[in-house]
Amino acid sequence: MKEQILLSGDAMPALGLGTWRTKEGALEQAVSEALSLGYRHIDCAHVYGNEHEIGKAIKDSAIDRNELWVTSKLWNNAHRPEFVKPALQRSLQDLQLDYVDLYLIHWPVHIVPGVKYPANNQDLEAWSAIPILETWAALEECVAEGLVRNLGLSNFSTKKIEEIRNDCVVAPAVSQVEMHPYQQQRRMKAYCDKHKIALTGFAPLGSGNRPLQQKKQNEPKIFTDDVMLSIAKQKKATVAQIALSWALERGTSVIPKSTNAERLSENIQSANIVLSDDEMSAIADLDVSYRFFDGGRWMMDGSSYTVDNLWDGE
Ligand code: NAP
Repeated sequence: MKEQILLSGDAMPALGLGTWRTKEGALEQAVSEALSLGYRHIDCAHVYGNEHEIGKAIKDSAIDRNELWVTSKLWNNAHRPEFVKPALQRSLQDLQLDYVDLYLIHWPVHIVPGVKYPANNQDLEAWSAIPILETWAALEECVAEGLVRNLGLSNFSTKKIEEIRNDCVVAPAVSQVEMHPYQQQRRMKAYCDKHKIALTGFAPLGSGNRPLQQKKQNEPKIFTDDVMLSIAKQKKATVAQIALSWALERGTSVIPKSTNAERLSENIQSANIVLSDDEMSAIADLDVSYRFFDGGRWMMDGSSYTVDNLWDGE
């Protein structure tokens, strides 16, 4: 399995397991299956509500802790510095771990403490209300205490990452963003390459499992794309495997979600596929900077979050 070497020197397996929106009770079995297939990187988050299932599967596997990579994420309602460590400790308790390998700030959006998802603009706080550098300093204390080994950001623009990089003790080691053939994140990738930040792609298969209200009509579809189908045919592989091997070939990491044993196996086998330069460039041409996750859920009437100030033009 390819790895990304982080600023700390830690090696993160380049293909991991996504865990968002699993059916209650299904994830424990899926993680056990994934670990037996050779997955050693699990992408988790408190807000997914299933870290306790992952914890049970990890414990039952008896795999050496040093061989596992576990990422979790700080939810948007816990950005106030005094909430950071308790939020991480809650994830550690559910995961039955003493530390996580990586902890990400999930979104550059503040939700009012106690609210999970905002129902209206009153449930949001303005970005300026909590200086993100104070959140970051609280995260750095968690590193010093050994509760987490590496820190990173998710859904942050290069501009927002740079603000943290310019004023931190522990530099951001990972940027996790939506990334697939229709959203290739070229600017973010160049920025991460320059600063030795590992880039991880979520929704690598187009996140077909999203709630209906988060889907738009006429979305591009990776699984029926002619270019992807033709490369898959040539390689005697599936479209999912081509999308994942493309991500690995670019030097990024990727975290497809599946709770299905066959697809878990199919996805990890994509690490054995090598795409040619022509195949890579045919996929490069599919980029239309399309976001399945456009941040619209934070932009209800009266919200101070806009497309411009969330993505900073990226
Ligand atoms: P995804 O991995 O692109 O797609 C998952 C969907 O594809 C599921 O419906 C899954 O169904 C299906 N699938 C998996 N393998 C397949 C295959 N080989 N062939 C056909 N279908 C397949 O979407 P995602 O779950 O949104 O993203 C991946 C992970 O990234 C998440 O689970 C989460 O860990 C992370 N994520 C992070 C953020 C963030 O804000 N940081 C946002 C979104 C996601 P089955 O389970 O039935 O196989």
